[in-house]
Amino acid sequence: MSSSSNASLLTRPTVPFAEAAWHAGLPNPYYTKRSHYELREWLLKWVADNLMDIADEWEDSSDEEQRKALFQKFVDAGFMLPFALGVKIPERFYKMAGGLKLPGNVEPSDIMLDELNRCASNGLVMGNYGGTAYGAGPIVHFASPELQERILPDILTGKKRICLAITEPNAGSDVANVSTTAKLSADGKYYVVNGLKKWITNGIWSDYFTTAVRTSGKPGEHKGISFLVIPRTKGVSTKAMKMQSAGSGTTIFEMDDVHVPVENLVGKEGEGFKYIRMTIVYVALRFARGDIEDATNHANRRVVFGKKLIEQPVVRHQLAHMAREVEALQAWTESLVFQQSKMTIEQSNVLTGGSAALLKAHSTIVLANVVREAGLLLGGMGLTKGGAGARIERIYREVNALMTPGGARDVMLDAGIKQAIKTIRIDPSKL
Ligand SMILES: Cc1cc2nc3c(=O)[nH]c(=O)nc-3n(C[C@H](O)[C@H](O)[C@H](O)COP(=O)(O)OP(=O)(O)OC[C@H]3O[C@@H](n4cnc5c(N)ncnc54)[C@H](O)[C@@H]3O)c2cc1C
Repeated sequence: MSSSSNASLLTRPTVPFAEAAWHAGLPNPYYTKRSHYELREWLLKWVADNLMDIADEWEDSSDEEQRKALFQKFVDAGFMLPFALGVKIPERFYKMAGGLKLPGNVEPSDIMLDELNRCASNGLVMGNYGGTAYGAGPIVHFASPELQERILPDILTGKKRICLAITEPNAGSDVANVSTTAKLSADGKYYVVNGLKKWITNGIWSDYFTTAVRTSGKPGEHKGISFLVIPRTKGVSTKAMKMQSAGSGTTIFEMDDVHVPVENLVGKEGEGFKYIRMTIVYVALRFARGDIEDATNHANRRVVFGKKLIEQPVVRHQLAHMAREVEALQAWTESLVFQQSKMTIEQSNVLTGGSAALLKAHSTIVLANVVREAGLLLGGMGLTKGGAGARIERIYREVNALMTPGGARDVMLDAGIKQAIKTIRIDPSKL
């Protein structure tokens, strides 16, 4: 088998379908480098040492010092750069990040996201990841070199934090409804910003807000919406929101006559959404595999009516349905990421944007099915905080926190088909 020398580096799974096939040492076309395997092993240990034992208490904790100390661990591990840049990291950004690299120096983001989410706490991972990933993305890809040099070194070294602020009380799925205004001052040197944003991940801890503002046009119009990087300055206020999925610093962000230099305007709009969608797919995938792992382990232990649960054909059926859904999701995800990796951003937006929207919706539907069945298999333990059902109980509460942000399920299903209909007549070689 082609990957056998690399596979020997792996900690093998002990539960069927709890890991992607390459983790079990099977051949695969995507994870072919030795460094992929080394990175995974390193992450497995990092997550075991730093996240697994704290995930249970994290959502109820309000200890600021503990939260900051954990964020610093994420920074020291070298995660900020791949959080902000995703898969392809040009050399100049390594310099901005003070030279910190993940072991292996491979395209890290999918392996990294997969492993971090093994702790099965969206709040814990998003609390350290979400703002940097989504807020810095537009700056990395579309800001002027001057703005990048001014802001990114502090973000990439963890000295400052950032978030993405798009949603408003009347502009969620319907982004065109954004009504936050950014009016150019008489001398043309700054924008005066007024408006209110809601559900902003990491907002409460942020020094910068990559904000969707209306520089022209009216609510309801797509034209006239731009991204402006707003520093925490006079006129900015933030208030924490209490959420079902806790721990990620979800925030109300208000702007009252905030003066922002015109140099903080970020080039294009709207390109960041696809990246957000794919990251959610990886979270859903790992959560679903965690459910299978814990449900299978429980079925192997629990004796009911004189037999282990796993000896009941109906229980094996339940596990089979979970496995087939998760394996199909993995295959679609890997093939789509492979396609995207072979295209320019423009080609990929046109040709895979519809599939990415459908996949985002699909991944959360699969997760909802899997976690429901896994929870039922654990009986009362599936509804109990802590113990054998801890991950399943937590994931059950997190499903809608994946299904709604980054494009709500029904909006994505519709958008996916609309985009696919538009794309079907396009010859990829002509793009
Ligand atoms: C945990 C969490 C974190 C978030 N983080 C951020 C963040 O960091 N930054 C940010 O800007 N925003 C963030 N959001 C906001 C998120 O992007 C919005 O909640 C999402 O876009 C949906 O908008 P809405 O809540 O206004 O729901 P609405 O737009 O009111 O939609 C409600 C429901 O209506 C249905 N619906 C709407 N339109 C259609 C349609 N055309 N066809 C069929 N059904 C439809 C869908 O079922 C949808 O779920 C976050 C939200 C959550 C819950």
